[in-house]
Amino acid sequence: MKLKRIYIQNQLPKKLSFLQVLSHNIWWSWNDHAQRLFQDIDSALFVKLNYNPVALLETVDPARLVELEGDKNYLKRIKVVKKDFETYLAVPKKKGPKLAYFSMEYGLHISLKLYSGGLGVLAGDYLKEASDSNVELFGVGLLYRYGYFNQGLSMNGDQIHLYPAQKFTQLPIEPVRGADGNWLKVSVPIMGRIVQAKIWKLPVGRINLYLLDTDHEDNNQEDRALTHMLYGGDNEHRLKQEILLGIGGVRAIQAMDLQPEVYHLNEGHAGFLSLERLKNFVDGGLTFGEAKEAIRASSLYTTHTPVPAGHDHFPEYLMRNYLYSYADDLGISWEAFIALGRTNPTDSSEDFNMSKLSIALSQRVNGVSKLHGEVSQEMFTELYPGYTAEEVHIGYVTNSVHYPTWIAHDLHEIYSEQFGKDWIADQSNKDIWRKIHKVDDKKLFDAQHTLKVRLLDYVREKLQVDMQRRGESPRVTFDILSKIDNNALVFGFARRFATYKRATLLFQDEARLAELVNRHDQPVIFLFAGKAHPADQGGQDLIRHIVHVSKKPEFAGKVIFLEDYNMEMAKLLTQGVDVWLNTPTRPLEASGTSGMKAALNGRPNFSVLDGWWAEGYRPDAGWALPLERTYEDQHLQNELDAELIYHTLEEEIIPTFFKRGDDGISKEWMGYVKQIIAEVAPTFTMKRMMDDYYERFYFPLGTSEQATSKSSYGPAKEYAAWKESVIGKWEGIEVKENISFDTFNHALPVGESFTAQITLGMNGLSKDDVTLEACFYHRIDENKVELHRVEAFGGESNDNGEVTYKLDVDPHLAGVYEYGFRLRPTHEMMPHAQDLNLVYWV
Ligand SMILES: *Cc1c(COP(=O)(O)O)cnc(C)c1O
Repeated sequence: MKLKRIYIQNQLPKKLSFLQVLSHNIWWSWNDHAQRLFQDIDSALFVKLNYNPVALLETVDPARLVELEGDKNYLKRIKVVKKDFETYLAVPKKKGPKLAYFSMEYGLHISLKLYSGGLGVLAGDYLKEASDSNVELFGVGLLYRYGYFNQGLSMNGDQIHLYPAQKFTQLPIEPVRGADGNWLKVSVPIMGRIVQAKIWKLPVGRINLYLLDTDHEDNNQEDRALTHMLYGGDNEHRLKQEILLGIGGVRAIQAMDLQPEVYHLNEGHAGFLSLERLKNFVDGGLTFGEAKEAIRASSLYTTHTPVPAGHDHFPEYLMRNYLYSYADDLGISWEAFIALGRTNPTDSSEDFNMSKLSIALSQRVNGVSKLHGEVSQEMFTELYPGYTAEEVHIGYVTNSVHYPTWIAHDLHEIYSEQFGKDWIADQSNKDIWRKIHKVDDKKLFDAQHTLKVRLLDYVREKLQVDMQRRGESPRVTFDILSKIDNNALVFGFARRFATYKRATLLFQDEARLAELVNRHDQPVIFLFAGKAHPADQGGQDLIRHIVHVSKKPEFAGKVIFLEDYNMEMAKLLTQGVDVWLNTPTRPLEASGTSGMKAALNGRPNFSVLDGWWAEGYRPDAGWALPLERTYEDQHLQNELDAELIYHTLEEEIIPTFFKRGDDGISKEWMGYVKQIIAEVAPTFTMKRMMDDYYERFYFPLGTSEQATSKSSYGPAKEYAAWKESVIGKWEGIEVKENISFDTFNHALPVGESFTAQITLGMNGLSKDDVTLEACFYHRIDENKVELHRVEAFGGESNDNGEVTYKLDVDPHLAGVYEYGFRLRPTHEMMPHAQDLNLVYWV
């Protein structure tokens, strides 16, 4: 044969040309009527192409397009979507600080391989909400050629890592061009080479996500690989990627002249952005200290995990190899530079930690649930000697999910009938969601049952294909498929397979589990899915274990592992299962979001009271394993938790689900369904999360950014000078007089106060520069105290540069306490006590 290659480009008929526009804004993916326009072109092909409409329009049979061109009804539907889309885009932005949001991953849609798991899906959901809420925000990230791996399984349950390449021509992205019409590129120095990154734009409704891409001919092979894989490669590779994201990201923002006021670092991955911002200010004439105040005043860092291994850190030699010139550029010593990422600056064995860097250079820091905020305070207390965990300035905003992305269409119809017009704009309002109680139980049950059947159909189809590919015998496959019962009570467990998530807890007692899933007339199914990181052998062992169990005859069609968890599967699962299950080791689940997706769809959760469920749980809307640890020993704790799981399943969940009335449904069950919709779902919508970020962080940062930047950063300079002066004088503060109640020899009767009078030699500091406090603590153990009460003293200056403080202290406490007098710096520009991290104990 003698063959030549030809590319025949599909030409969309004029009447369908809007589809091209629509396919290039991911808005289509969370607007059902838009999504259906594509699906109805050729639904089988659409699924096969990973729901990618750009690819669909490119490959669909031209005859089908001609057919649609003559389909009046279809053309009318296009018109409706077009009008909605154009109306949506035309609304002017809301007022507020202009935000730059940095993230290593974005989970926007299955057809965009830019995410690995929860962190990415959160960032993707957040961009969509930023668009819906119409705020001034843009995202910055990397455009991966291969992204995160697709998961295959061998017959043994070994995880196989597949990396299909993305065709950029089939993604909804476009080059960002400069005034001269040329593609905008930024150069980033990496190990003495200049790496060129192209800037792409990915429209997300009304806002943009900007993505950097090094995989092109300007770069050598090694540098081209920088944007190949997400979370692939070794630690050095990760360092380079983070340099690209942080430093390249800021350069891209400059090249596009976007001028954001506030920077949000989603995870420490983006920490280097602050270095580049510092450099820009230093280049502009500020000192390092002044530049630090300028950038801190406009930065928020969100930390995402209490697992120490989840915080990137790099050995000093790597930092030296890649970032040595930054110390020079910033006008500081290498020691001062490396100290930015350390707890103990002089400990040369300590790695440079991205979280510590991000904390050092961000005025505000937050965790992603109430509990995780507290755990993070604990985790980073070591950075703030003199303060207890509860005083550490780290706050929280609980994660949530984007309703339009995760809601099942049929449920949305039912909600909207009751909730009224335009209720989505007020989606975090519980009063609206409580109207769910007006919906007929049967109607809701039927809708949910249909979603379950859709899920189980998908499971059967998927298993058939996957098992055949793995080489399973047709008889085994048939046996499993035939045992999947549409009337079963279906549990879902899908997430990253990290060992702390304890995916195999359910299998502590296989005999008991086998009894429980095989009861006559009360069938139960457990669906599992999730990827383990390619380097995580422990996580991959868990997958192997579940696959192994699923092949035992007593678990055929009862325990099922679905390969290649992704956002589309997550939708089917969270919309279709009866109960969402989660069993993390407390307190390691920072938030978790998949359970919230289930909650939106009226699916009660059964989970450890950790992460978001510690806030979301109510006894009438789901089930819980207690928050407190009973055992230090993890094996004993696992045994206890497994026992509690079996007990709750046997005594509560299964009987409640199958307690059917004459109408064939369980009234009690529908009570749980309605309560999780009415009382839980609204709190975990993205609107609530975005409102919280504005209120707790963006608005205050917008204000502090303006306050520091006015008159050419005058206030930033002043504040930096003040800090420097306080640091210089701090060591010289001395106690001249300390007259206090003799607590060593006498007890203080309850309700009585004692007086303390303390005179300090201030070494040139004024009384306004500091606050003296009496602090009362309760001792927990040798290394830990808990703060009970803080009271500030009033001070009087005298002519000798001394200040005399007097306080009538009524501890308002009974029992044994420890107390001390603590002096700390204060300044009107100080956002929180630890902003200048100095404490002097009198
Ligand atoms: C929602 C989602 C996650 C996050 O799940 P967790 O509950 O946080 O573990 C991970 N992966 C995908 C594909 C998701 O859709």
